[in-house]
Amino acid sequence: MTVYAGPVFEMATNQFNVIADHLGIPADERDRLLLPKRAITVSCPIHKDDGTIAVYEGYRVQHLLTMGPTKGGTRFAPTVDIGEVAALAIWMSWKCALVGLPYGGAKGGVNVDLSKLSRRELESLSRRYMQEMIPFVGPHTDVMAPDMGTNEQVMAWFMDTYSMYQGQTVTEIVTGKPVFSGGTLGRREATGRGVAHVSRRVMDVLGIDPAKSTVVVQGFGNVGSYAALGFHQMGMKVIAVSDHTGALHDPRGLDIPQLMAHASKHGSIAGFSTELAFDPKEILTLACDILVPAAVERVIDAKVAANLKCRVIAEAANGPTTPDADLVLDQRRKEIFLIPDILCNSGGVIVSYFEWVQDLQQLFWEEEEVMRREYQILDRAFEKMVNRAKADDVPHRTAAMAIGVEKVRNAKNTRGLFP
Ligand code: GLU
Repeated sequence: MTVYAGPVFEMATNQFNVIADHLGIPADERDRLLLPKRAITVSCPIHKDDGTIAVYEGYRVQHLLTMGPTKGGTRFAPTVDIGEVAALAIWMSWKCALVGLPYGGAKGGVNVDLSKLSRRELESLSRRYMQEMIPFVGPHTDVMAPDMGTNEQVMAWFMDTYSMYQGQTVTEIVTGKPVFSGGTLGRREATGRGVAHVSRRVMDVLGIDPAKSTVVVQGFGNVGSYAALGFHQMGMKVIAVSDHTGALHDPRGLDIPQLMAHASKHGSIAGFSTELAFDPKEILTLACDILVPAAVERVIDAKVAANLKCRVIAEAANGPTTPDADLVLDQRRKEIFLIPDILCNSGGVIVSYFEWVQDLQQLFWEEEEVMRREYQILDRAFEKMVNRAKADDVPHRTAAMAIGVEKVRNAKNTRGLFP
């Protein structure tokens, strides 16, 4: 019995069992690898602008303490629950291990509808959440970062709140901060840039010419927008984009820099164009070369997977594809090249790691240095995944996760079980 429940946790469990079967991990070792080490639930009361008090439930799940501090984002969304946060923490572990970062996975979240909060209320909630987490986090214990619904400003409030309690500025307590508050150059762009970079590697393998190819992006937050920009800068046509307000479709290719400027001014793509408006439900099955799910979990189910008309899926979101859909995609392995989430979106946590290192050393790098090192790590992990998939004759997700799980398993077995 565990407290973790719900479809996302179930999905992380199913995925893990596929890997455990593949690696022949005995039953009595599985729970030790899968179940989170620690989960914290807090209530965060804040004063609302109308004078009343509202209480929001917050979580932080630290999956694995074996590899070093835990690392992962904080999500502010109305869908957040402990099962989802635990699944996301587990995925962070495999992601960090795959790309070779000295971290275990963590994730946090607050169940909140941000459209109902003023900026002042958001600041109160951010500060109260961090204050409640102080006994459980630290630069060498657990390092937070942005995720859905949080951004550089929220990270600055987290860092400031922690620092006020310490009596000194501790920039290394969170990553994804503004550059002038201990952030690193290239973090804001890191995830999206990484998605475009790895996709480019795949295009080279498949012989897809960027000048003649098309991209569809579901989700236009920090990750989706910078991924779209990366593809746009490669000379590709981004023919469709969606967010929580709707979708846009233009076979001639959307003007991504202009759309980004619009979204950052108005908070979404709504109002950009009525002429190009399109049904967001149809976005995933549009014909294109690269499909980039960059929104939420479980959007590609078996039915969608059977109807996909793309050559590459670049999983910019965490967990966009269900295990049922994986079975369908496995059948379509020759037609569709899957770049699994833990590789595809790992540019974010890779550059978070660089931010943490720079903060600890108080020595800051040029953006070119950040990008060069990010791409170097992504390239290495990409090659390992492709080689492993070939050697074991398994899908890319199985290969990528097997590399991550194996690393963690070796570390646990070498350190031994205490006491
Ligand atoms: N939330 C991001 C992810 O899912 C980034 C985590 C981090 O930078 O620590 O990978």
